[in-house]
Amino acid sequence: MFYILFVPLTAITWILFFEYLPRLFGPQMKRLIIPGRQSTKTSKKEYLLSAMNLLVFTGFGALLDFLKSAELTKFYFEIEFTWTSLLYLPASLFLSLFIHDLFFYLSHRFLHTAFMHKYIHVHHHQSHTINAWATFSFHPIEGCIQISIVCWLPLLLPIHPVIHGIFTVFMLFMSVYGHSGYELRAKKAPIFNAFNTSFHHAQHHQYGNYNFGIYLNFWDRLFKSNHATYEDGYKHLREHINGSKGVE
Ligand SMILES: [Zn+2]
Ligand SMILES: [Zn+2]
Repeated sequence: MFYILFVPLTAITWILFFEYLPRLFGPQMKRLIIPGRQSTKTSKKEYLLSAMNLLVFTGFGALLDFLKSAELTKFYFEIEFTWTSLLYLPASLFLSLFIHDLFFYLSHRFLHTAFMHKYIHVHHHQSHTINAWATFSFHPIEGCIQISIVCWLPLLLPIHPVIHGIFTVFMLFMSVYGHSGYELRAKKAPIFNAFNTSFHHAQHHQYGNYNFGIYLNFWDRLFKSNHATYEDGYKHLREHINGSKGVE
């Protein structure tokens, strides 16, 4: 009985973390707000759908607890002190992130097909401007699709529970960061443009049919689904946050 609490509590912790970011780290955090993209008010619908999806996450946490106790997963608990075994720990984390990155991109494209968008994904896109509570403000069916990754991974590949835990914490952090309306990575070197930004998903809520990815910008580049203004818009945002000179 671990995941039943771990999954929803991690999600709500990151929501509250970004909700209270200026109180936690000082009012200078407000300089990181993406102009015009962060909503100042959370709607009743965003609270309600978030609460429903935290229940969905609890359900999938319980399912994972069951799968684990029934020994239906590939979780392993003992780490041998051999090179192969030690190197597999970070390798399995990167592999998990890569699998989820592809899963997220494809499932998100699927949610943007006419039928799925009309009846399911439209609720998420009613948050046109975003804040942390918009993250899990989606139809519970979308909640099932998104959170199912915590069960798929240990069913698919051998994974240590600590690595799975790190993956879950990071995945939920990145999800809320993308909806927070704060751009925390404006000082990053251009070499890191291979990774997505909060601005990237803020544009997704602004324009709709663009910017589908979560971690890597690779899939949006490969399938030419980045919004035409993404790169220039991000450059301007960097200059805005870092001061008129910008940081190269
Ligand atoms: Zn979408
Ligand atoms: Zn979103």
